[in-house]
Amino acid sequence: MGEYNHILVAVDLTEEARHVSKRACALGKAFSATMSCMHVIEPLSLAYGGDIPMDLSTIQEQIQETAKKQLADFAHSLSIPDENQHLIFGRPETEIHNLAEQIGADLIVVGSHGRHGLALLLGSTANGVLHGASCDVLAVRVGN
Ligand code: AMP
Repeated sequence: MGEYNHILVAVDLTEEARHVSKRACALGKAFSATMSCMHVIEPLSLAYGGDIPMDLSTIQEQIQETAKKQLADFAHSLSIPDENQHLIFGRPETEIHNLAEQIGADLIVVGSHGRHGLALLLGSTANGVLHGASCDVLAVRVGN
């Protein structure tokens, strides 16, 4: 105990994700921990329900292809091997929890915007991940 052995960094594939994952990798080096990274694609049908009367599957496939490439580029720049990259469909909070348990991660690293006002009331991914996580969660402050 006292050390982290397997760190899971959840990335939204924005520029900010670079800052979050650099922090995660620095921790990983300090503990000689295994690093894994993940990105969750929210299915368009989940986001928009049945509101859009068209077939979304082609757009969804394109989103998946782009995300896959971006995640791979991202992971390679951090020296995270292919087998530790995870691209998953679903809701970010739920999938981050599920994967952390599945791979036996003992630390989840996410970004946090330190929101206030209405945005705070509505909650954030970092909040969602913190609640119900079965391991430690590090929220790396990003933006303002
Ligand atoms: P948000 O609260 O949505 O601004 O996101 C804050 C943090 O949650 C991001 O920096 C990521 O660490 C994580 N996150 C948000 N969306 C995703 C996603 N689709 N896949 C993986 N991680 C995510």
